[in-house]
Amino acid sequence: MCNATEAILWGPAREWVRQRSARSELKCRIGSGQATYHRFDPNTHQHLITFGQRMVEAKFSAQSSQGWLSTREIQHKGYFDGDVSTANLLAHTCCHEFAHLLQSISGQRRYGSVHNAAFYTILDELHESGGAAAVRYFLMERSARSGIELPQATMNLNDVSEQLQAFSVGDAVRFGRDRHQREGEIVRINRRTCTVQGTGRWRGARYRVPVSLMSHR
Ligand SMILES: [Zn+2]
Repeated sequence: MCNATEAILWGPAREWVRQRSARSELKCRIGSGQATYHRFDPNTHQHLITFGQRMVEAKFSAQSSQGWLSTREIQHKGYFDGDVSTANLLAHTCCHEFAHLLQSISGQRRYGSVHNAAFYTILDELHESGGAAAVRYFLMERSARSGIELPQATMNLNDVSEQLQAFSVGDAVRFGRDRHQREGEIVRINRRTCTVQGTGRWRGARYRVPVSLMSHR
């Protein structure tokens, strides 16, 4: 995923990025947990994308794939024809994090509004331009060469109680869409929803969130 992001996504965009933010560099690395994110250090001009090892692991089963924003994006935005598979999830995750890089360059990343309309315009473009498909092809080829099977079968993701199994009390989650996105911590798992205590700017508020609107962060 690191090589795919650097070669397929960063390679063609590098000059465009440097015209806007001189001396920008990208470094991709593997994290030991599930945290997967993009960071920019304005002092060194370095963009850092971390792919969590446990995030990759989670995307090998339908049950643990449920709680991730990338799963919802493929389903709700129809990326890869809405087809959720390990190969598509991992390719999409490269695009998602790279879209944050482009978003930060274009000045559209704001506190409390990270997955906003500007972000999805960029992510749509990465899919429509064939970038996402090229990343997927790269991942398929590299994994085959290393003897790793990257499943392409469509996952079955419709069962609510199975979706709930991806979450536990204490998990940090994000819910709601676009500008209405909020953050909190799960305090109780119900039959079809989770009770979430707001954190950050939503501290003090309590929400009952349908599992389909919730993802890990
Ligand atoms: Zn994101």
